[in-house]
Amino acid sequence: MLRRALPYFFCNPMKKAAHPNKYSARMSLIRSTDTKPELIVRRYLYGRGYRYRKNYKRLPGSPDIVLRKYRTVIFVHGCFWHGHETHLSMPKSNVSFWKEKIRRNKERDERAKKRLQDMGWNVITVWECSLTAPRRQATLAEIELTLNKMFLEQFKPAPLRYDVVTPQNDVAAEPEQPYGTQCD
Ligand SMILES: [Zn+2]
Repeated sequence: MLRRALPYFFCNPMKKAAHPNKYSARMSLIRSTDTKPELIVRRYLYGRGYRYRKNYKRLPGSPDIVLRKYRTVIFVHGCFWHGHETHLSMPKSNVSFWKEKIRRNKERDERAKKRLQDMGWNVITVWECSLTAPRRQATLAEIELTLNKMFLEQFKPAPLRYDVVTPQNDVAAEPEQPYGTQCD
């Protein structure tokens, strides 16, 4: 039952949370690992033949999806918890508490991303709002495109180096002297 309530709940959990107990029950669901936005991405990738690990704890930030072959990890971020700036709306009460909590989450996300990049991973962040029905297909297609680009990057040959062809007139800068004629 609660799971059914999730989609309506996503972009602004606070508004729907009338009762504190109900709220914390929902909160724990949102933070569980198989939340719906992640499933959307995983199902799509699986259906397209990609294979991955999920919630991979051995990498910084436990990425939601790890595609080793593509050197790519994907985080599917809840807009509220991870502080999606473009439409972040704060709950009416305990504002400083939530602000601080979200700030810390964002900081942690950034640290994980940086560490992963230092390790040579490409990091894709997918916001849950980009997975709502009207934008979903475009977002998924974009993820796939990025993966393919990453895959090809690995086989990119070293930049081509052309031999510099020295123009003839540079070589013949001095007047030509027949050999053996100078110090006779
Ligand atoms: Zn968002």
